[in-house]
Amino acid sequence: MTRPTRVRFAPSPTGPLHMGGVRTALYNYLFAKKYNGTFVLRIEDTDSQRFTPGAEEYIIESLRWCGIMPTEGVDENGKVVEEASSQHPHAPYRQSQRKAIYRKYADQLVASGNAYYAFDSAEELATLRSEMEAKGETFIYNYSTRKNLRNSLTLGEDEVKRLLEETNDWTIRFKMPENRVVAMDDLIRGHIEVNTSTLDDKVLYKRADELPTYHLANIVDDHLMEITEVIRGEEWLPSLPLHYLLYEAFGWQDTMPRFAHLSLLLKPDGKGKLSKRDGDRLGFPVFPLNWLSSTGEVYSGYREKGYFAEAFVNLLALLGWNPGNDQELFTLEELTQAFSLDRVVMHGARFNPDKAKWFNKEYLRKHSDESLAKDFEAILEEKGIKADFDYVVKVVSLIKERATFVADFWDIAWYLFKAPCEYVEKDVAKFWKEENYTLAFKVADFIAAFPGELEKEALESALEEYIRGNEWPMGKVMNCLRLALVGSSSGLGIADIVCLLGKDEFERRVAAIKTALC
Ligand code: GLU
Repeated sequence: MTRPTRVRFAPSPTGPLHMGGVRTALYNYLFAKKYNGTFVLRIEDTDSQRFTPGAEEYIIESLRWCGIMPTEGVDENGKVVEEASSQHPHAPYRQSQRKAIYRKYADQLVASGNAYYAFDSAEELATLRSEMEAKGETFIYNYSTRKNLRNSLTLGEDEVKRLLEETNDWTIRFKMPENRVVAMDDLIRGHIEVNTSTLDDKVLYKRADELPTYHLANIVDDHLMEITEVIRGEEWLPSLPLHYLLYEAFGWQDTMPRFAHLSLLLKPDGKGKLSKRDGDRLGFPVFPLNWLSSTGEVYSGYREKGYFAEAFVNLLALLGWNPGNDQELFTLEELTQAFSLDRVVMHGARFNPDKAKWFNKEYLRKHSDESLAKDFEAILEEKGIKADFDYVVKVVSLIKERATFVADFWDIAWYLFKAPCEYVEKDVAKFWKEENYTLAFKVADFIAAFPGELEKEALESALEEYIRGNEWPMGKVMNCLRLALVGSSSGLGIADIVCLLGKDEFERRVAAIKTALC
């Protein structure tokens, strides 16, 4: 019987969620939606040393911003569900709250001979490691070395019992078989085989903090939460043989999830993994939202840099997956329809910051003038400018094609909200010549006398006719007017600017440049 699709995103709250992590969440989300399944959020917080306050909230806020909220694991307010209920039989979803569950599974593995108690202290292991290193070798706790170490395989039964009762820094380790080939299948990478002799006896449970390690908690929870597909980053591929063997050791092979390991996101030059420091070093964000580290470093986020969530989601979807045709713009709904794991690539996906901007530019054009005007109003307000909303909408409709971010609006069109207080020297030197500006002043008078309501097309053709009719140099005259209105020789067409500013402001600016430069 096929089981209902249940996938999960299982981040560890050790810091802000990297964009690679958001991509993992997105692929899980798309997969769940495509198969009418459930997308679970599970917080893997068993490593108390690396726990970072605020990281869980950051993860949830990021997913919410992207519009890819889990359908289970969090409630409608985005809080992680704390207790099991008929609605949430799989709760709690934070592993630290599931502590009581894991010990019995660890003990079960010891009882079945698949795991053992290890009593070696951290100091003993550190000494062994440095001794081996001195000889140019690496210490591995495995089928060979465990025979000479302090564990329940080498110590007598009474001694083991005593140590279990009297000490509390022992661990439970997986007894990795010697020389066995584990045959695995990955939905992206295909068939993989690994010989167990290359693997170590991973710690599954730590008595000291009474917590399982990632491997045990992850397998037990995926089983109890009835996960059908595990879609995660390729850094977990080396753990796959152990995970297969854990399913086998528990006798859960029949319901073992299928696995898909996603390739890494690479730096723009393709050399190595996109790391958290690359972003600010190379001038683009690698995190969805801003993050302030406990040491005071600020990592910038896509949201704060002015990216639209839809653009961010769209660009992430295509970093490692392709639709099989050349379509690049997808709504979330379209992605859900088109997504499939067999089109996820096996090689690393190189991140291209220019392409990221291209996506934002495309999405900016798709936004309505009204919604962009609302976003722009917030920027204007920060600058202390209060403008009529209809006016802002008009400005936006004229300039949106030129912008990549809403924040660009100000750079493109600030002069439509305040008069220039200086004139760019280089442009003045080039255009502000008596033979030009005297003509420009005549054109200004013509505009001032223009009958009726200012209307762009009418004004534009009247100006064209007037200037050409007089055989005046169009470019030079217009640049003088632009200097008056913008403070430089770049900007929108004169008719556009005049219609927006209105005659009074137009005349004020012409008078101002006359005073300043004549
Ligand atoms: N907690 C692991 C992580 O943060 C999850 C790995 C998995 O999905 O199995 O990447």
